[in-house]
Amino acid sequence: MKTLLRLQDLDLRIEACRTREAEIPKQKEKFHVQMARLQEELEERRDALKKLQLEQRDSERDIELKQAQVSKYDEQLFAIKKNEEYQALLHEIDLLKKQISVQEERIIALMVELDDAKARFEEDQKRIKAELDALETQCAEVDAELAEAVQAREALEEQRKPFLAQVEPGLLSKYRRIRANKLSGPAVVPLRGEICSGCNMNVRAQIINEVLAGEIRACSQCGRLLYAKDRMSEMEQNAESSV
Ligand SMILES: [Zn+2]
Repeated sequence: MKTLLRLQDLDLRIEACRTREAEIPKQKEKFHVQMARLQEELEERRDALKKLQLEQRDSERDIELKQAQVSKYDEQLFAIKKNEEYQALLHEIDLLKKQISVQEERIIALMVELDDAKARFEEDQKRIKAELDALETQCAEVDAELAEAVQAREALEEQRKPFLAQVEPGLLSKYRRIRANKLSGPAVVPLRGEICSGCNMNVRAQIINEVLAGEIRACSQCGRLLYAKDRMSEMEQNAESSV
């Protein structure tokens, strides 16, 4: 029974490692989702900045074209003989000049907007990079934790092997059957007074007596194997004093 309890202790620790091993990939998946979201945010901010820069460039090019047109019209004015045509061209030039001045104002506003947007983008970029770095570090940490859990589990599995041969086969198969049925937790539990510490239900007096007498009995409520803690420590003391 004592060997079985040692085996159970190892099994429970192995189980805890496995639970952790299963949780870590989920945790990493969450980190990756957060990272993707941050990358997306960074792209959005960059696009907004680019859009302003593009508008600025387009406006400047448009002004240049209009100015070239004005120069062309200015030259044409000299060649025109008819007053009507002359007036029409003057009107055309005037119109272009007005459009140019509107666009120049827009460019001045854009420059202010761009300065703001650039400063904001740099701040955002710094913040997002810091957040990404932090997530990167967390990923590395959970990777290390996973490697540790695997290593710990493998070491425990190695430790477990000799115990398997030492437990009485009938008892071992009972233990295995209970463990296969139970979702988690121990399959062998101590009696707590008259109560099974696995399911917290009262145990029948006859079973208590048999367990106290050193027999292996199962709780009739939950099916877990019962042992008497006092008897176990008594046995330990006897074993120690006999050495
Ligand atoms: Zn029980």
